[in-house]
Amino acid sequence: MAGKLLIVGFGPGSAEHITKRAKDAIKESDTIIGYKTYVDLIRELMTDQKVVSTGMSEEVTRAQAAVRYAEQGRKVAVISSGDAGVYGMAGLIYEVLAEKGWRSNEGVEVEVIPGISAIQSCASLLGAPVMHDACTISLSDHLTPWPLIEKRLEAAGEADFVIALYNPKSGRRTRQIAEAQRILLQYRDSETPVGLVKSAYRNSEKVVITTLEKMLEHEIGMLTTVIIGNSSTFLHGDIMITPRGYQRKYTLGQEQQRLRPHERLRPENEPWALHEGKKEKVDNSLQQLAMEAIAAIDGKKTAERIQPPGMEMVFELAVSPGVAEKKFTPQQLLLLAELAGETGTIEYTPHHHLLVKLPGVDMNETTRLLLEAGLLLHPVGDVVQLKACDFCDGDKKDAIPYAEGIQERISGMAVPKELKIGFNGCGMACYGAVHEDIGLVFRKGKFDLFLGAKTVGRTAHSGQPVAEGIEPDEVVDMIAKIVDEYKQNAHPNERFYKYFKRAGEVYGFQHRDYAPVIQLEPAPCGE
Ligand code: SF4
Repeated sequence: MAGKLLIVGFGPGSAEHITKRAKDAIKESDTIIGYKTYVDLIRELMTDQKVVSTGMSEEVTRAQAAVRYAEQGRKVAVISSGDAGVYGMAGLIYEVLAEKGWRSNEGVEVEVIPGISAIQSCASLLGAPVMHDACTISLSDHLTPWPLIEKRLEAAGEADFVIALYNPKSGRRTRQIAEAQRILLQYRDSETPVGLVKSAYRNSEKVVITTLEKMLEHEIGMLTTVIIGNSSTFLHGDIMITPRGYQRKYTLGQEQQRLRPHERLRPENEPWALHEGKKEKVDNSLQQLAMEAIAAIDGKKTAERIQPPGMEMVFELAVSPGVAEKKFTPQQLLLLAELAGETGTIEYTPHHHLLVKLPGVDMNETTRLLLEAGLLLHPVGDVVQLKACDFCDGDKKDAIPYAEGIQERISGMAVPKELKIGFNGCGMACYGAVHEDIGLVFRKGKFDLFLGAKTVGRTAHSGQPVAEGIEPDEVVDMIAKIVDEYKQNAHPNERFYKYFKRAGEVYGFQHRDYAPVIQLEPAPCGE
């Protein structure tokens, strides 16, 4: 009668990290087969089983013996440290079985019992280095040609994977880890955090945090797993953290988020993504932001690849102190000055924000610093921008929540042409809301709406008053729908007032011609 093969991954080696199924499998087996060191690690779980333990490089002998015993009707536990299916015994046993013509529905029964692999146990001791795409590469070239391992290192380095190096070094193999370091330094900063974990969760456990440049100064051996961060991985004290990318959409230091849950998956809020369906017109500045984001994700190598030769990457964005807040703090200005350095620029614009161009900065880190300083960040170019008044320095604050609602919902959204929404907190409208593409004036607890101002040129004119007494609860949704109608139907580069005129109506509001008749001949700029 055919027996059973239990291929057991027992994790890092401590009793509390062995799964219950692995313990049960060891108990229910009558034969245990494994590498001598591993048999010793699980000896306290054993009862009176027959033990077959052999040395290094005798895996094939162990696999063949296991199959033979199982065919004789025995219940055989073949043990691997970590996970039996990750550089463990599972594959080899299946290969031996396949050579013998075994089929899963006949012959010996096989059960693979998963365990905690080194990449997981070591990561847990280092903090959270494997929070993004990661790969494992064994540097052992006893069975794999070194040129193939080199290729894998190159590919993983270029693709910015977090990398766990298994079998990094042994008494005979000492060059491989140095070669791996050399290859990865072509793609990663020399200060990239690296964790060296020896014998995780065993008595001789040792954890070292170092850098890619300095990692060879530390002890690395047979029992070490080397975890190399990607281009975003950073150290917080002695904790390695690889960000998942949340900071692109969320402000981790604040409870109130810029994007509401239903807005977070919209194409305009993830311009770096590959979207389905209708081709969105994505504004150049957003594309630039996306490229910066990708560069930040992909690390230096990719930044160089997408950067035109001879040009330095420049992170360009608009910043303001807030929706209603008009005063920058000295600390915010100092931070901007520091980030701009000698070659960046900070330009005061007529649109309630500073346009900053920051050459050579890390986009993720810069974004984090600016948000932490309390600044509001906006993409530049053909996007929606809210221009609110200061609500009399906050004294007339009743309308501020609605301004913030519009800011959260549509500010920064890519549109066919730049679109400004003026928002004033009282009938004085002293910040000129009626002179913007869309104007909102809060008056007696309700809103008046103006559409289609022509904001520049000699034929500039104010917006057409289209509605009075709009209930505050309706206003954010109404403005979002008006903007969406424009976004969906306008021609590329068609300004809002032109679209309103051409379409004849927006959101049911009929267009009337407000353009003044100019008798003088058109004069070019400057005359
Ligand atoms: S529009 Fe009204 S609330 Fe806003 S700053 Fe001017 S006077 Fe104050």
